[in-house]
Amino acid sequence: MMIRGVGASAGIGIGRAVCVRPQALAFSQVPAGTPRQEKDRLAAAAVRFAADTSAMAAGLRTRLGNQEAEILEGQAAMIEDPVLRRQIDDAIDGGSSAEGALDAVCGQYAALFDAMDDAMMRQRAADVRDLRARMLALLLGLPRQDLSALPPGTVLVAYDLTPSMTVDLRADCVAAIVTEAGGFTSHGAILARALGLPAVLGAAGALEQLADGQTVIVDGSRGQVICAPTPAQLARYQGLQAQFLRGRQALKAYRRGPTRTADGTAVQLLANIASPGEAAAALDCGAEGIGLFRTEFLFMGRQTPPTEEEQYRAYAQAAEAMAARPVIIRTLDAGGDKTVPCLAMPAEENPFLGCRAIRYCLAHPALFKTQLRAILRAGALHGNIRLMLPLVTGPAQVRRTRALLAECRAELAAAGLPFDPDMTVGVMIETPAAAMDADLLAREADFFSIGTNDLTQYILAVDRGNAAVAELYNPFHPAVLRAIRRTARSAREAGIPVGMCGEAAADPRMLPLLLAFGLDELSVSAPSVPAVRAAAAHWHVADARALADRVMEADTADAVQGLLDDVLARKGAGGEQAAPV
Ligand code: PEP
Ligand code: MG
Repeated sequence: MMIRGVGASAGIGIGRAVCVRPQALAFSQVPAGTPRQEKDRLAAAAVRFAADTSAMAAGLRTRLGNQEAEILEGQAAMIEDPVLRRQIDDAIDGGSSAEGALDAVCGQYAALFDAMDDAMMRQRAADVRDLRARMLALLLGLPRQDLSALPPGTVLVAYDLTPSMTVDLRADCVAAIVTEAGGFTSHGAILARALGLPAVLGAAGALEQLADGQTVIVDGSRGQVICAPTPAQLARYQGLQAQFLRGRQALKAYRRGPTRTADGTAVQLLANIASPGEAAAALDCGAEGIGLFRTEFLFMGRQTPPTEEEQYRAYAQAAEAMAARPVIIRTLDAGGDKTVPCLAMPAEENPFLGCRAIRYCLAHPALFKTQLRAILRAGALHGNIRLMLPLVTGPAQVRRTRALLAECRAELAAAGLPFDPDMTVGVMIETPAAAMDADLLAREADFFSIGTNDLTQYILAVDRGNAAVAELYNPFHPAVLRAIRRTARSAREAGIPVGMCGEAAADPRMLPLLLAFGLDELSVSAPSVPAVRAAAAHWHVADARALADRVMEADTADAVQGLLDDVLARKGAGGEQAAPV
């Protein structure tokens, strides 16, 4: 029998199932005391929750890193949120017990987050549910579920992998993780990848279909869980597991730069981050700098936009972590698929084509200038920050931004605050207009970075988040490849560097084309860095150019991918070796 889910952390785990079912948290029989008594009980539990959670975060920071610890810190902050607490107190005043009030208010928040389009915001629903369950357990005096003594070779089967579960987990005893909830970007997935454990998430019905002690194969690369496998299946997966582990071992040698092709051509290999805390993990994976800092995440999960000072601290932290290495900070890319509730952007008929990203910033100069001043100030620390503008469609937007930058510099000088006087300004090429007019934009921009995630959606007119048209979304479509080639040519002719920071930059099949087109820099998710460096070392630029000449004659995405797959299979420059570590 096979259960399918999302392959959220690569690798193959074989072991025996241990099913961890959610604790029964029945509280309807708990009588409500006076409102004062109930509020005191809640406050005492909240103090304990915050203290326990902060201690867990500290433990997780040492074991796994900042990003994982921040998830727990977010929960500790959530229980102290005055708005949430007032709502719970109000429910208690209405006659509820502490448990009932907490359950009702958390339930409302979870439903609110569940209904949001943005995957990051939906993830907060899982955080609220975890908080609710742990607070209820504290109020009811139940022990915390203990996962510290799992037998070696355990396949952990749970409803969700929460950060608090991870604290106890001994990675050496766990062969793999299967959860019913979650997806590729959920916190459970982030934690599983940080632990280096194969994981299949979103495997609906797993807790019902799997029994404790049953042998299970978990294929975290393909999102498959095989229950009670046959001897032939076991032998096949043991072989695949050994192959995967050899590939992962080989990649360790590529955790350090520089990045060079087989003939010695240098490519700069940078990482994409969404918070300054991720910079350290990027360095650890061997990134040579930050190629895309998605600053909109600083604006999410809060009621007001971050102040200049708050933003300055975030950008300064990334600049400090990278020291002399480059840090490309992208200005606020709000709208479209990136919901930023604190901006209260008006609903639009076609948000992907609406007032978003650079358009929104230019329409709200006070908000934009706050960010620009913070970036200019952080640039004074090491001179390593570069500015990048999202969703540009023409040179006027760059000129307008440069004018605002000049105003910001004058304001900072008047205030006696240090700033970078000549920060470079780059443009993301992610619209058909930008690709078509790359020669014109190259006169205004100091560098280009190709955002294939959006470029693909706009060139092919396919919503990047719509599963119904997902088959049409393909960066290997000849039209997208032509846009990339044209952009690279314009950059070369103008003598400015050109990079790529969309997901396609990490695809080993795209690499020979990017080398052939002469891209100078690639920015990928941190765990993909070693694999891309390894893949680059397989290529001579002359071979990549010969292959690109053939590929650019193909007239469908399928034909392009077929050609590239064949060549990569023969060269051994993709597949397992390119799987993220
Ligand atoms: C892109 O569009 O390729 C890109 C890197 O930006 P984002 O995914 O944040 O829109
Ligand atoms: Mg984009």
